[in-house]
Amino acid sequence: MSTVTEIFGSMVFDDRVMKATLPAKVYFSLKRTIDQGDDLDIGVANAVAAAMRDWAVERGATHFTHWFQPLTGITAEKHDSFITPSPDGGVIMEFSGRELIKGEPDASSFPSGGLRATFEARGYTAWDPTSYAFIKGRTLCIPTAFCSYGGEALDKKTPLLRSMEALNHQALRIIRLFGDTSVKCVKPSVGPEQEYFLVDRQMYDKRQDLVFTGRTLFGAKPPKGQEMDDHYFGVIKPRVAAYMEELNRELWKLGILAKTEHNEVAPAQHELAPIYTTTNVATDHNQLTMEIMQKVAARHGLVCLLHEKPFAGVNGSGKHNNWSLTTDTGVNLLAPGKTPSENAQFLLFLCAVIKAVDDYQDLLRIAVATAGNDHRLGANEAPPAVVSMFLGDELTAILESIEAGTPYSAAGKQVMKLGVNVLPQFTKDTTDRNRTSPFAFTGNKFEFRMLGSSNSIACANIMLNAAVAESLRVYADRLEQAEDFESTLHDMIRKTIADHKRIIFNGNGYDDAWIREATEKRGLCNYRTTADCIPHLLDRKNVEMLTAHRVFTQAELRSRMEITLENYCKTVIIEANTMVSMARSEIAPAVEAYTKELAQTAALKKSLSEDIPCTYESGLLKKLSGLTESICLSAEELADAVSRVGQCDGVLAQSAAIRDELIGKMGQLRIACDEAEVLTARKYWPFPTYGELLFGVR
Ligand code: ADP
Ligand code: MG
Repeated sequence: MSTVTEIFGSMVFDDRVMKATLPAKVYFSLKRTIDQGDDLDIGVANAVAAAMRDWAVERGATHFTHWFQPLTGITAEKHDSFITPSPDGGVIMEFSGRELIKGEPDASSFPSGGLRATFEARGYTAWDPTSYAFIKGRTLCIPTAFCSYGGEALDKKTPLLRSMEALNHQALRIIRLFGDTSVKCVKPSVGPEQEYFLVDRQMYDKRQDLVFTGRTLFGAKPPKGQEMDDHYFGVIKPRVAAYMEELNRELWKLGILAKTEHNEVAPAQHELAPIYTTTNVATDHNQLTMEIMQKVAARHGLVCLLHEKPFAGVNGSGKHNNWSLTTDTGVNLLAPGKTPSENAQFLLFLCAVIKAVDDYQDLLRIAVATAGNDHRLGANEAPPAVVSMFLGDELTAILESIEAGTPYSAAGKQVMKLGVNVLPQFTKDTTDRNRTSPFAFTGNKFEFRMLGSSNSIACANIMLNAAVAESLRVYADRLEQAEDFESTLHDMIRKTIADHKRIIFNGNGYDDAWIREATEKRGLCNYRTTADCIPHLLDRKNVEMLTAHRVFTQAELRSRMEITLENYCKTVIIEANTMVSMARSEIAPAVEAYTKELAQTAALKKSLSEDIPCTYESGLLKKLSGLTESICLSAEELADAVSRVGQCDGVLAQSAAIRDELIGKMGQLRIACDEAEVLTARKYWPFPTYGELLFGVR
């Protein structure tokens, strides 16, 4: 078997391959496009396409595809083979610069939220040269953005690239103000930690709920759950280890920096974290990671569940989005510096994030809103639905002293040294840890913890980049006009702290008292569900900010609201229909069959002798018969509710009805079924139980 260094990136048309296969002039021209966003001329594109084709064909590729990320949240590809007929009756393998740069998939069935009618359906895809092309199976995949003919973004990548551009522009203004002329660009870096569950394929196939919805809709609590804490970081079982080994190799081939793997808190739950990289590449890689996790699982007789809450009663799965700002000269702008001047710049960037998270807390909540994630946020296992920030004690004390105008001193630490005359010097302190905070500073990066495990990370990063770009714009506007740079800087930092300190909370985010304080005293938003938060995407301040930085147009925002709510509605309705189907066609008949056995046993005993007691049978019979009645009644009510919400006019009304009516009815049906499960003999229960699913992979 080849070594890791040999296989790493072996299926990627990366810088090493470009250097080796492209003429020097073409290579440098492409590099300028990649690093600085310069336009690419068609001659260069033709040369790159030819080199890509030769490289791909040599590795067994027969097709190419423009790989894109429509608003469904997953990736899309339409394969075209390289073949072109030659006059002698044979074929040659061709791939032109035009085909590399632009594609026209007839992708009219993707949701566009009204951005285009089907008659003008043809969107086009445009090459994103900043994310390397790669080979998947027999197909050369070209990462692309997906737009309508009018130029509206029909995907998640386009606004992400725009948000990175906005952030780059504003961050460079600030850096120049600090006298740095060497930095050419600033990019946000992201390392997403991916959680997932593994279950046995045969068991999975027996459950309609897992097959149709990705999560269990029924299931009584097993005798053992996660209470022993024996799974977290525990020894990895052989079958899982074999899975992880193959997964890593597949990811490495695609140049994905899979780094850390471990068991998570819930039984059958695991995590994979890559080394961080530029945001758009990290997003592409995370989409690929989720796809490959599922493919590799199938080869091991397993299914990888990426749903946010596959099982009630044990932890769900999230995705921690570790985020920082890096210059092309290799400086992390969120790392406290060594000199007072570096620290002043650090403090300004820190304040930009504080202001951004406070001003646009609603957008951050919106960016992670899905039906699946509604089960996690606020359920005492993931951060609450209220957005707040954790900075740790030292940084908080520094900010407090700046606000109060008092010198900062900490036990054992030197009294502050005045930097740029006014700002303190301090060192990085990573000892602080708070797992309950939605948005935590961890020494030199922020960890945004509200993302759901199946979310594309694009949405969260679009909002984060845009919101921070807006803070930096406000700062740059003022500083560029300032007569006295240092005192203006100091005033601005102080004002940010005073205005936005309500978003900083270092305590326990799971505490009910915090939610009360956050909403009642501090006025922070608490949007508990997707239906609650999504309409706020169109709040005036949000539209103004996102359009001003050209991250979205108004029409694009309306389309995103429409699609997100539609997706929420469809998801919950499919779940409700699945519940009705399982209750009626599997659960009720199973309970009835067992009831019949009990009744027959009781009758038999009675017929033998009146003296044989059968209180066990009759007691259970009564309970189970009562439960069968409730199950059928609740299923009836749920089915009625589904037809009622189906008649709502528009997604706003429908999502509200789902939140207010459907979800409660689903809960009722589940309670009756789960009660019946614990009373029914195992051999009658129609599908694998929680205990079997959670502990079945060895
Ligand atoms: P944790 O204790 O949260 O597991 P790690 O240091 O292991 O912390 O980091 C988790 C993730 O954060 C990894 O994906 C890692 O690559 C990423 N990360 C580390 N430094 C940065 C940074 N400066 N910017 C963005 N992500 C980072
Ligand atoms: Mg982490």
